[in-house]
Amino acid sequence: MKNNGVPDQDSPPGAVTPLEAKARLVEGNRRFMAGTPGSKEPGAEKRRALLQHGQNPFAVIVGCSDSRVPPELIFDGDLGDLFVLRSAGNLVDAIALGSIEYAVEHLDVPLVVVLGHESCGAVKAAVLAHKATLRLSPGMQAMVEKIRPAVEKALRKAKAGADRSYSLVELSVDENIRAVKDELVSCSSLLAEGVQAGRVEVVEAKYYLGSGEVVFLNES
Ligand SMILES: [Zn+2]
Repeated sequence: MKNNGVPDQDSPPGAVTPLEAKARLVEGNRRFMAGTPGSKEPGAEKRRALLQHGQNPFAVIVGCSDSRVPPELIFDGDLGDLFVLRSAGNLVDAIALGSIEYAVEHLDVPLVVVLGHESCGAVKAAVLAHKATLRLSPGMQAMVEKIRPAVEKALRKAKAGADRSYSLVELSVDENIRAVKDELVSCSSLLAEGVQAGRVEVVEAKYYLGSGEVVFLNES
């Protein structure tokens, strides 16, 4: 099943469970936080093996484009480990959804992580746009409109007495992560069926810029 540490194409689907995939991310993030990256295979060898056997990533990361939140670094991943989509505000559209479905259906990836982060500029822009009329380009307008429902939900929670030490931006970041996760499952029957069958998990996580920690939300 393994060839020089690289899983080959004959690995049975679901060889890595959602739980195992999550544990690998948690371990990688701990190494990143500690500043002790794990050993990586030599680049040329690894590239050849991945070309010969194909890719076999163990997690899809739907993250923000923010330069401070590169998934491969914060999870201490190696070449071929992570299937990554990034956009400001960790948003998805139909094409991004297709990319995620491809990874789950054809690469047998068992885990999809919607990864938001502390102090997200896209979410800040959406909070500002909710308070005042901003002159935004059509592209940025579409971005803040997509985040707007999360801001409105956060506002309702703030009014209902949510933790006052938690800012509206951070509440909105959390709501946006939740909204994107819900969107993935509700807009994709392929993902919903995978979740139902236990083949794949879609989870929410938040990255903290200062500590470097990724916290998985709604842990049971
Ligand atoms: Zn961001």
